[in-house]
Amino acid sequence: MDAVAPSCVAQRTVAVLENRAVARDTYRIRLDDPEMARAILPGQFLMIRPAAGTDPLLGRPFALYDVARSADGSPAAIDVVYLVLGRGTAALAERRPGDRVTVWGPLGNGFGPAPAGPVVFVAGGIGQTPFLALGRWWLGRAAYGADRIHHQEPATSATLLYGVRTSALAAGVGDFESAGIAVELATDDGSAGHHGFVTDLLARRLERGERPAKVVGCGPPPMLAALARLAARHDVPCDLSLENHMSCGFGACFSCVAPIRQPDGSVDLRRVCVEGPIFPANDVVWPQT
Ligand SMILES: Cc1cc2nc3c(=O)[nH]c(=O)nc-3n(C[C@H](O)[C@H](O)[C@H](O)COP(=O)(O)OP(=O)(O)OC[C@H]3O[C@@H](n4cnc5c(N)ncnc54)[C@H](O)[C@@H]3O)c2cc1C
Repeated sequence: MDAVAPSCVAQRTVAVLENRAVARDTYRIRLDDPEMARAILPGQFLMIRPAAGTDPLLGRPFALYDVARSADGSPAAIDVVYLVLGRGTAALAERRPGDRVTVWGPLGNGFGPAPAGPVVFVAGGIGQTPFLALGRWWLGRAAYGADRIHHQEPATSATLLYGVRTSALAAGVGDFESAGIAVELATDDGSAGHHGFVTDLLARRLERGERPAKVVGCGPPPMLAALARLAARHDVPCDLSLENHMSCGFGACFSCVAPIRQPDGSVDLRRVCVEGPIFPANDVVWPQT
């Protein structure tokens, strides 16, 4: 990976500015953290836990959805979009404006420079979250990080292929469209867009001869494995953002390791929180392969 992420991890307690439903069981939380907002890059993530109490004891990882900016354009707050799954995300959904949460980050390697040409993001479930900031960044519409990195040669277009079980779970479609990212939906139940797998949408494009400069995927492991096979079959560069369970987020606990092919062809475990979460799709080894 051509990652450009600096390392300036810090832990702090910050206020919740907003926490509102954006789709079924899905919320967008805004955290008053200008320091993180100035440093974080698309593809990086942060850990969040309630500031008081011990339940849950461990933080939970969330991708940067976007940086909220003040009237003069300076980075002011962090937006995260999350799906309520279990204890940690249920506790987050109960936070109200003024409540405090403990956060640490920015974590992970983040995405590299903008590819020259069209880019396609493939998301399954809540896997769309890393792609709003990434789309803005790669299209040259916003700068991120301590160095205010702005791509001089932006991607020529960005498309999000977004698969959810049912249309009520599709979150933030308007955010993507207003950022100039075209959205095509796929649903398992046929309630919106293509009735079937989100990878079908990419397969159609590749079969009719489209050649994205880069495909990036985020979602459940079976979808990512299918995406990796599809991209390899068509010889299209593809990166994946992995969302393995993790406890610390900074490389100490080794609970998030994934088998990754090494340059010499061997396979070794790599920490998704530090060496990832972004890996070239060809390097990720799936259990069935
Ligand atoms: C780098 C990274 C970025 C992420 N970004 C986002 C994001 O932007 N928005 C978002 O909603 N989620 C994101 N996630 C996933 C999120 O961290 C988990 O959904 C969350 O930790 C669940 O916590 P919980 O306490 O609510 O659920 P738990 O009580 O921990 O788990 C509830 C159920 O979900 C399963 N589960 C929990 N985490 C995962 C996982 N990572 N993969 C597969 N199954 C899991 C558990 O096995 C259990 O069955 C990200 C994960 C990583 C590693």
